[in-house]
Amino acid sequence: MKTRTWTRRALALVLVTACGPALAADFQAGVARVKITPPQPFWMSGYAARTHPSDGIYQDLWAKALALRDDDGHQAVLVTTDLIGLPRAISDEVADRVRTRFKVEREALVLSSSHTHCGPAVRKNLAVLYDFNEEDRRRVDAYGAELVDRLVEVVGKALEDLAPAQLSVGHGSVGFAANRRGFTPEGVRIGVNPNGPVDHDVPVLKVAGKNGSLRAVLFGYACHNTTLGGDFYKIGGDYAGFAQAELEQAHPGAIALFMMLCGGDQNPNPRGTLEHAQQYGQALAAEVGRVLGTKLLPVRPPIRTAQEVVALDFAPHTRATFEQEAAGTDVFRQRRARLMLAACDEGKPVRQTPYPVQAVRLGGDLTLLALGGEPVVDYALRAKRELAGENLIVAGYCNDVMCYIPSRRVLQEGGYEAVDNMIYYGQPGPFTESVEETVFAALRRVAERVGVVAPRSAAASRP
Ligand SMILES: [Zn+2]
Repeated sequence: MKTRTWTRRALALVLVTACGPALAADFQAGVARVKITPPQPFWMSGYAARTHPSDGIYQDLWAKALALRDDDGHQAVLVTTDLIGLPRAISDEVADRVRTRFKVEREALVLSSSHTHCGPAVRKNLAVLYDFNEEDRRRVDAYGAELVDRLVEVVGKALEDLAPAQLSVGHGSVGFAANRRGFTPEGVRIGVNPNGPVDHDVPVLKVAGKNGSLRAVLFGYACHNTTLGGDFYKIGGDYAGFAQAELEQAHPGAIALFMMLCGGDQNPNPRGTLEHAQQYGQALAAEVGRVLGTKLLPVRPPIRTAQEVVALDFAPHTRATFEQEAAGTDVFRQRRARLMLAACDEGKPVRQTPYPVQAVRLGGDLTLLALGGEPVVDYALRAKRELAGENLIVAGYCNDVMCYIPSRRVLQEGGYEAVDNMIYYGQPGPFTESVEETVFAALRRVAERVGVVAPRSAAASRP
């Protein structure tokens, strides 16, 4: 009888082990935040129309990090920031220092931005917006250097905080994002397009301690943080800032991290007031809170990460194009033209931009696809269609925000996300029509490297 019992137990143990690493291994998670509010007053970013620096703060800005480690030592660190967008120069420096100091590889570090248009100028993102004097430049450069330190610091703090954790995921939905590509007789203009594609998905990753208490919640939404316009001069996180603050208030001790998804062509609707931003923040936080209260899907190890930097081709241009532009009256086009002509003078005309594409997969339960730039919603919708079997978060604004990333459709239609944004980003633009396929080819490669099996005919299945 005794032997029999032992045999049963042994058999049970064998079965448990054979059922997979889910029961044998677990995550360590760590979370941290540091304040990155700029000194006042400070030049703000996002709108070309602003004529002077900030005149106050309605909310502090934060860099937050969620560090994950599995039993085999695989790591992933997700960093979110209440910023317009991190340029490559800053991300690369942070990644180098994080690799040296904490042994976290580049492919395991995701550096995302909320794209708040109430945040500070982050050099050299959107450099064409500004005509800084020496003092402005010194202050903005000093903030950038400080920001690198703070981002390295927040990663270190999250790693120090590593402790056993239970992860789970769910999805909700809120409706305030509207497609903003309005079709007018003069072409596509920023407005409201009720018939345009949207993605109202709100992915929610819950990080609980072993006792079940909430330690962190990572959530996302595909909508510009542009509730407040260019006539607003106070620093804050827009709707995402309010949503994070609301969640942290509702769950004392927990840290809420917002990831901007593929909302390049999505704006809050209606927009324009601080009350709107608060309402959207509350709506988003309420939905995240609702999802947290539902039965979530457990997320299990292992952690797999992959990153690739591909080159995206700009449509051909000649020196003459920018000589003409430099002689025009539009100050922003003049500045862009000067940058392009300087590159020509150095014998390095801008023909391409590097573009980072990254994947982080947690077991078979959740895959984060992290795209650079400002991808339009088509990227998320197509990724979800092609990888229909995966539980996906498709983020934009990660690792390097160098310009908008239009789909082929958006590129063919024209408008701000296809053409005009390139002026303010200091790029020759627009892209060639290969942009969407180049991004998707890279996406499929990183997805496959983290274990996602993409259907072979996926590329051909695009409508
Ligand atoms: Zn934008």
